[in-house]
Amino acid sequence: MNQTAPPTAQDWRARAAVLPINGQAFIDGRYVDAASGATFDDVTPIDGRVIARVASTDQADVERAVAAARRAFDSGAWSRQPPRERKRVLQRFAELILAHRDELALLETLDMGKPISDSLAVDIPATARCIAWYAEAVDKVYDEVAPTAHDQLALITREPIGVVAAIVPWNFPLIMAAWKIGPALAAGNSFVLKPSEKSPLSAIRLAALAAEAGIPDGVFNVLPGYGHTAGQALALHMDVDCIGFTGSTRTGKLMLQYSGQSNMKRVWLECGGKSPNIILADCPDLDRAAATAAGAIFFNQGEMCTAASRLIVEASVRDRVLEKVVEASRAMQPGDPLDPATRMGAIVDEIQTRTVLGYIDSGRSEGASVLAGGQRVREQTGGCYIEPTVFADVQTDMRIAREEIFGPVLAAITVQDAEEAVRVGNGVEYGLAAAVWTRDIGKAHRIAKALRAGMVYVNCYDADDITVPFGGFKQSGIGRDKSLHAFDKYTELKTTWIDLSQ
Ligand code: NAD
Repeated sequence: MNQTAPPTAQDWRARAAVLPINGQAFIDGRYVDAASGATFDDVTPIDGRVIARVASTDQADVERAVAAARRAFDSGAWSRQPPRERKRVLQRFAELILAHRDELALLETLDMGKPISDSLAVDIPATARCIAWYAEAVDKVYDEVAPTAHDQLALITREPIGVVAAIVPWNFPLIMAAWKIGPALAAGNSFVLKPSEKSPLSAIRLAALAAEAGIPDGVFNVLPGYGHTAGQALALHMDVDCIGFTGSTRTGKLMLQYSGQSNMKRVWLECGGKSPNIILADCPDLDRAAATAAGAIFFNQGEMCTAASRLIVEASVRDRVLEKVVEASRAMQPGDPLDPATRMGAIVDEIQTRTVLGYIDSGRSEGASVLAGGQRVREQTGGCYIEPTVFADVQTDMRIAREEIFGPVLAAITVQDAEEAVRVGNGVEYGLAAAVWTRDIGKAHRIAKALRAGMVYVNCYDADDITVPFGGFKQSGIGRDKSLHAFDKYTELKTTWIDLSQ
């Protein structure tokens, strides 16, 4: 390969062909098979090939991993290290992630089908940045002394919660894990990560880098496996103190049940969305709004919790906006994820592909009009590809207007004014993100306040920084990832009263 030029599609295919892939679990500082010896096939959605056999962990492995995590926690080898020492190790961890950027990006793309250019530019740098940010933060966060009476002293301190289990989805496998690994490990917890069965490979590789960075045995464990086996056993475990979950609202509700059926473990949920993107007639730049609207639903194949899947547009600008959105969608046709020029890759697997196509059928049969896309494509590759799809004439009671599709499908709804836009925007069970486009600053603030969503964007979409909390209202979840607020999830507050009167 030419060392100076960036790798081509052919280079990436050649690298993929010889990439060593480990499918084992990582427990107590070592790679191991599942206790049962069971494995499942890891199929790439790029062309349907089996690329690895992955340990299918279950209850027995969960027992081993949680016991190792508890032992490590109680030993103090990590939990009682000075924060600056944990900082040093986690900074090294972040550096190692960046040093293995190409390998991790390739694993991410092979496993879940996103374009290699996105894995390289977004997923791996954001993962490293997140872990480095919490590393840097942890020796700058102070505890409190309460303003009590003169002869009393009340200390309010934060302690690591103990054994944290993270159960994460497949759309941004490493980033979703990092949002939990960063604050949980920085705070001194032990950690058991269960990646999605659809995308376990990067998490498995990450474990070796954690060990190389100096994270002690037992502090960081990875259990690949299915939700109903490994995931459920973790969530029901009596010695897991906290679950950091990201995934669907349906599974999030199960987490709350598992907690109630077991030890009342803390449950933090980052769940689904059906986010409204409201473009009003006084939008400052309709072309930019339309291009952003297309990116906000079609980036990552639409497999984004914050996907702006409902475009709510004021009637007088509807035609112009939709024309531009359709134009932008044509520039995002699915291609080979290993080609650096590809902007839209493969849908994660056959099951998700069928789900998305089912929603496209339901949109058609409920009477919405397809302005663009609507078909499965590139079937000759053996992979999973769906065109960016734009529906117009969508009514609020249609399934495509209410349910999370998690694919490249936009539902455009026309409204008469800002008031109706807010009513429609708030009219679903989710409340993750929302956006409004207007040049009127007063109106922007009023609408931002009225929208029931954890993140509201004004004249932009998906603005992102690790310093800013991320999470939802309503059935989009409980708690916030990112920012210093994430430490609240993985620490307990303790009050210590000292009597000074004697
Ligand atoms: P999912 O709920 O099917 O799975 C998520 C994780 O839960 C996986 O690891 C899975 O194995 C596990 N799981 C499934 N059933 C389980 C059970 N019975 N017990 C324990 N664990 C179980 O979700 P998904 O399809 O992987 O991801 C897509 C969903 O994730 C979408 O709804 C999306 O909006 C959401 N998501 C939310 C955010 C956010 O920050 N709010 C971010 C990314 C994705």
